Amino acid sequence: MSARHGNGTETAHHVVVLGAGYAGMAAVVQLAARVKGRDGVRVTLVNARERFTERMRLPLTATAQETAELSVPELLEGTGAQFVRGWVTAVDADARTVRIDDDRVLGYDTLVYALGAAVDTSGVPGAEDHAYTLDGAQEAELLAGRLTRLGGGTVVVAGSGLTGVESAAEIAERHPRLKVVLLGRDEPGAAMGPKARAHLRGALDRLGVEVRAGVEVRKVLPGAVELAGGESVAADAVLWTCGTRTSPLAAAAGLTVDDRGRVVTDSALRSVSHPDVYAIGDAAAVRQGYGVMHGTCQGGMPTGVHAALSIDRVLRGRRPKPFRFGYYHTPVSLGRGNAVVQFTRPDDSPRRIFLTGRAAVRYKETVTASPWPTYGRMKKMPASGAFWPRGGRFTRIRGTK
Ligand SMILES: Cc1cc2nc3c(=O)[nH]c(=O)nc-3n(C[C@H](O)[C@H](O)[C@H](O)COP(=O)(O)OP(=O)(O)OC[C@H]3O[C@@H](n4cnc5c(N)ncnc54)[C@H](O)[C@@H]3O)c2cc1C
Repeated sequence: MSARHGNGTETAHHVVVLGAGYAGMAAVVQLAARVKGRDGVRVTLVNARERFTERMRLPLTATAQETAELSVPELLEGTGAQFVRGWVTAVDADARTVRIDDDRVLGYDTLVYALGAAVDTSGVPGAEDHAYTLDGAQEAELLAGRLTRLGGGTVVVAGSGLTGVESAAEIAERHPRLKVVLLGRDEPGAAMGPKARAHLRGALDRLGVEVRAGVEVRKVLPGAVELAGGESVAADAVLWTCGTRTSPLAAAAGLTVDDRGRVVTDSALRSVSHPDVYAIGDAAAVRQGYGVMHGTCQGGMPTGVHAALSIDRVLRGRRPKPFRFGYYHTPVSLGRGNAVVQFTRPDDSPRRIFLTGRAAVRYKETVTASPWPTYGRMKKMPASGAFWPRGGRFTRIRGTK
């Protein structure tokens, strides 16, 4: 179980987890709980901040609503895992080292790559310079400040995906004096069934959100966005929610990545080019029978748990099992008192069943509100984290068991 590092000293097998998001936290808590008290294994978590970023709640932060202060080092207390605060600036997958803040180097035997993804502002001129994003608490707070200072005017939310919908609803509800325009290629809730989609659209209409689907933003300017065709839409603030991009670190390290920079994994969630690197969450391209998984917390947390189980099995001389995951719901907040939950098949296509209104709000708050209770349970009972829908035939890849 021990490993030899570059300096020649015999040390414990060092598992380093990069990124304390939904997936990285699931991996580190699950692994630390499983190897606790076992000699020869140590676990380190590296993250930019001590405070856990609840990305799902950033639309609340962007409208100056309080969210819980969740401390990563506090959660790790008693697990035996070490926390290192810092910005990862490079990974050397051959030397098996990680560079932090350009001045510290950390060696690893097994790496868990969980650096997530950020919104993609690179494809449209002006988005990087003139639009707000919900990439982190600080970015969301900047938008909150701007919205509070605006006495009136127009806020354009660019991107009609679920982040755009939740943000538009939240802004419209908290700032009734602002006009909110939601722009995007697709109808909001396009992937939902017709009834759930109609509820979502009705809620946006009641909140006064002007929805413009089937449009393409070509440019973000100070004070406006320009659409394909040349039309200009005045905007006192623009929130950009279109598309995601991943950190360039994986590609720079020589790991095999897909066209979106995500680490391509095998069925056990190991990098196909570097099997001592596991990739999880939004930073990983994980293939299931229905295709490559898209970034969500519901899928990201199971990838973290599974990577931990795989590492534990390998350390005990056993073969890791294939990862299987099937989606089961799409919960969407529509302000504080309304929501819609579309239940799905494992391939994420909508079932007939859905919830709306208060029942959906309660469901969302109970089932998906915060991962903290889940991590807390996992610390004490690691097996409690290992239950998620495996997706049956939907997730089976030809040639695998
Ligand atoms: C506004 C918004 C709302 C969302 N709502 C939902 C929802 O309702 N349901 C749902 O399932 N999904 C939702 N998502 C998607 C969900 O948040 C992501 O799928 C999830 O966060 C992915 O988890 P992760 O652990 O892979 O990455 P993240 O949670 O993004 O964590 C990555 C971590 O790595 C750290 N990091 C990144 N780069 C570095 C570096 N170089 N050095 C050090 N640390 C670094 C980050 O600071 C962060 O802590 C939403 C996303 C957004 C933006």
